[in-house]
Amino acid sequence: MTRRRKAVPGDPGPPSVPATPAIPYGHQHVDTEDVEAVAAVLRSVSLTTGPAVSTFERRLAETCEVDYAVAFSSGTAALHGAAVAAGLGPGQTLYTSPLSFAASAACAVYVGAAVGLVDIAESTLNIDLRKCPSGANALVPVHYAGLPVDLSLLPGGGDSIVIEDAAHALGARTADGPVGNCARSHMCVFSFHPVKVITTGEGGAVTTNDAGLAEILRRFRHHGIRPKPELGGWYYEIPVLGMNYRLSDIHAALGTSQLAKLESFVGRRNEIAERYRELLRPLPLVLPPPAPVGAVHAYHLFPIRVSSDARRSVFDHMRAAGIGVQVHYVPIYRHAAYWADGTPDEFPNTETAYQQLLSLPIYPDLSDAEQDYVVHELATALGA
Ligand SMILES: *Cc1c(COP(=O)(O)O)cnc(C)c1O
Repeated sequence: MTRRRKAVPGDPGPPSVPATPAIPYGHQHVDTEDVEAVAAVLRSVSLTTGPAVSTFERRLAETCEVDYAVAFSSGTAALHGAAVAAGLGPGQTLYTSPLSFAASAACAVYVGAAVGLVDIAESTLNIDLRKCPSGANALVPVHYAGLPVDLSLLPGGGDSIVIEDAAHALGARTADGPVGNCARSHMCVFSFHPVKVITTGEGGAVTTNDAGLAEILRRFRHHGIRPKPELGGWYYEIPVLGMNYRLSDIHAALGTSQLAKLESFVGRRNEIAERYRELLRPLPLVLPPPAPVGAVHAYHLFPIRVSSDARRSVFDHMRAAGIGVQVHYVPIYRHAAYWADGTPDEFPNTETAYQQLLSLPIYPDLSDAEQDYVVHELATALGA
């Protein structure tokens, strides 16, 4: 089966049949500055966790207006680190949204804790914090698509550890300031996978205002090693197991260079989103929930909803037209590795959304002509 992109007005046309969709749902923007930044590290003394990682962590903390940022080799590793730093373990439960990437729940399983799921709110597609049980040991609110969860709705009085999964939401803001400042959470986790708002190739980070948590996170990513120079310059102990989850200086240099462009990336994503809202208004579909007044959406995704009867044929039509639409996400309760006992009936809002969702392409380099083509093909697929 081959895919051929149709002609875009004013476009010379596709070179040949692309193996991957000509217009993906997400894509990195890497420029010569980024390339130079990475090349400079390759010519330097240090390739792994050294000065470039420290610089990246400092810049990320400044961007997020938070005290500490600890870089990891992926967002998944960062979530694992956060679950360990939270002290989660067997007999405890971590609650998250079923409408997320599996990694939001994997961090509970990695530490032997149970996964709890809480249905989404219809109006935001984010976890419905009013439905969270009061005895939760940890909560992982996911800022789905880049729309920040309203953490002022967190159940008061409990002693749950709150770990934001902000893999979609670097550059988003609420009335409390930038996502990542941990104004209402203990830790906040980012991913720098190429489809995310900025990239390091692979990478992630945890931000926190708690020096103790930052220290546990740093040890955990480096085998749990605790240097003991008073017993000899070579001496260290490993009192608690860790992993090798270090980010390299090569990756971090790309991250620092990308961070300088964060505002323009998020600005461009918002422009594309607004243009979709205009162009899609006449079509029989539901647009993604916008950011409330005073907040900024990061628009990692632009997930529309079409009728569940049409979703599969629309998906297939778009893919055949070379447009890499995707469904975010197959709900976590559908994966046996995470959820053995539940049924979709327990999560009616998530299940209904899942049957209808379709993420349209959104990334800084998406051109107006490409966007017009996406809208045209979508209208065709919907018979509108
Ligand atoms: C991408 C993503 C992650 C995992 O990040 P990686 O860097 O790919 O490991 C976690 N949670 C959510 C919601 C994500 O989208």
